[in-house]
This record gives sequence, C-alpha cells and structure tokens, in this order.
Amino acid sequence: MGNVVINLGMAEIMKMHDYYSKQLVDKNPPGSVFAAKTPACMVTAYKSGKVLFQGNDCEKEAGKWGGAGGGAGDARGGGARGAGGAGVTAKKPAAAKGKSAAKGDLPIGIGGMSAIGSDEVGTGDFFGPITVVAAYVKKEHIPLLKELGVRDSKDLGDEKIVAIAKVIKDVVPFSLMTLKNDKYNQVQQAGWSQGKMKAVLHNQAILNVLGKISPEKPEVILIDQFVQASTYFQHLKNQKAIAKENVYFSTKAEGIHLAVAAASILARYAFIQYIDKLGEAAGFKIPKGAGAQVDVAAAKLIVNKGRDILPSFVKLHFANTDKALALVNKKRK
Ligand code: MG
Repeated sequence: MGNVVINLGMAEIMKMHDYYSKQLVDKNPPGSVFAAKTPACMVTAYKSGKVLFQGNDCEKEAGKWGGAGGGAGDARGGGARGAGGAGVTAKKPAAAKGKSAAKGDLPIGIGGMSAIGSDEVGTGDFFGPITVVAAYVKKEHIPLLKELGVRDSKDLGDEKIVAIAKVIKDVVPFSLMTLKNDKYNQVQQAGWSQGKMKAVLHNQAILNVLGKISPEKPEVILIDQFVQASTYFQHLKNQKAIAKENVYFSTKAEGIHLAVAAASILARYAFIQYIDKLGEAAGFKIPKGAGAQVDVAAAKLIVNKGRDILPSFVKLHFANTDKALALVNKKRK
C-alpha cells in the first residue's frame, strides 16, 4: 500500500472537500479537516495543509491535485495516528435545531442551512472603528469550518481569532465594512445613532456578499441582532438598495449559525489589525474597551500629538474624551 503526501492551501483543500463530498467519512482523524474514502485510496486533509493519500492507487489520486511526489509517507505530521488528539469532534446533526425552535420565528434547522451571517465589532470601544462583516457559509462547508476552529468568538482570545481568520479569509466569501473614526464622528455629530450606523453597514456588507456569490443565493440571512427588525428597516429607509429577502435577526446569533461566528471572527480580526495600526501611528499600544485605561492612553496621545488628532483615533462622544482632557489638564497644572 502506497502513501503520498502533498501540501496545499486551505482554498484548495476546500475544493477537494467539495470534490469528495459524496465520499466523506464520518469520523475525522485528529488534526484533520476531512477524510474521504475513494475507490483509489483514502484521502485525509490536515489543518496544516498536508494531504495524505493512502492506498493502492494513491499516486493517481494525488495526481489530480498536482502531486505525485512525496511517497515516503510522512503521515504523522498532521497527527494521523495520534490517539484522541485535541480538536476532534464527532459530527453532530444541525446543532441549531433546539435553539431555533426556542427562538420562535427563526426557521427550524437554520443552523444547517446555507447562510449569510453578519456581525459587528468596536461599538463599545473608545479607540478604533466599527467593523462589520457579512460572510457566506454554504451548508456543505459547515463541518469543515468547524474543524478549522470557527465558533463563538466570545470564547476566543485575540491570538486564536487572528489564526482562524487568516485561514478562513481565503475560503469564505465575505465583505468587510470599516467605519473609520473620522467618518464615525462626522455622522455621529450629524445625528446618527450607532444603531443607524450599524444598520447601514450591515445592509451594505450583506449586499456586497450577495453580489459576490450571485447567482447563488443563501437560504437565509442572519444578522446578530442589535435592534428590533422594524427599527433596523426604519434606519434603512433612505438606502438605495435593501437586503430584505429571508433576513432574520437573533441575539447571540454566533451560536445559531456558523456564518455569524465566521463574520464575527473576521470583524474582530479587522478591528484588531486597525487598533494595531493606530498603535503604530500613536507610538504606543492602544487599549481596547472604554475603561480607565483608554482615558490614560488618550491623554498620552493628546500630550504627544496634540488634541486635533483625537477625531481620527476615538469615538469623540464617549465620556472618555472629557476624562482624557481632564487628565491632561491635571498634568499641566
Ligand atoms: Mg453582535
């Protein structure tokens, strides 16, 4: 029995997953994203990008994916023979069934449908923009994304978020809308609530994704709820185009559909990157949130760069602005 190992990017592995969709086996070995049993050989793709072909006709099968070399069978790289390694979960049927039934107006089984999910980050942070992401996850890709670590991002630290986002950004069609601080302050002063900003950004991100995946259409669009549906559409009444068809809202939607979890991870990734960029411009690390630490950081920024720089770093209407100015005045006395 032969062995061939090739290395592929995650986008390529996603294609393989679709190609072998009828031949997938139920239990994935530790560290793998999928395993398939074909007449020619066993195919196992690992999170590391390694793909192992095992069986009599393995070279022919690997040849379909650009690889016939390898041979020696470095199968342990991905943990192929590890016993009960970390990160292996037996596949469960559509996890959302119970939850969606309890939610009332969400379709039964929504968690297993092809969906666009959307979520935002940064609304409660003094420094940095609001980032909104809409992401499309087809039902066939749900198990694969689970294997790649996509889940409720509230349980994940920044490092993990960045690692997962780097992998999924190439395999999940998505749209990122970033409302930078200057623009944020401008529309806020013109009377926009955060609810309105978010509604406009979510709608635009969703329209962008619909455009990207067209003519394919999602079965549902699920927005992580921040206002009542009626208020959401009220905010959009002057928009040229509004995504309305099959749009659903739910709080804690990250736990209902993986598309929202993916959107949330990508939005957090974008936010983290932006905060890092602000830190580079400021010359020191910018803290998140709206606690006392951001008052201190903003005061430092004012002292170093002058007060006029604030609108491109912070959400001016937060109480933190006055607190930071008070700290500066105290220092100057
Ligand atoms: Mg949310």
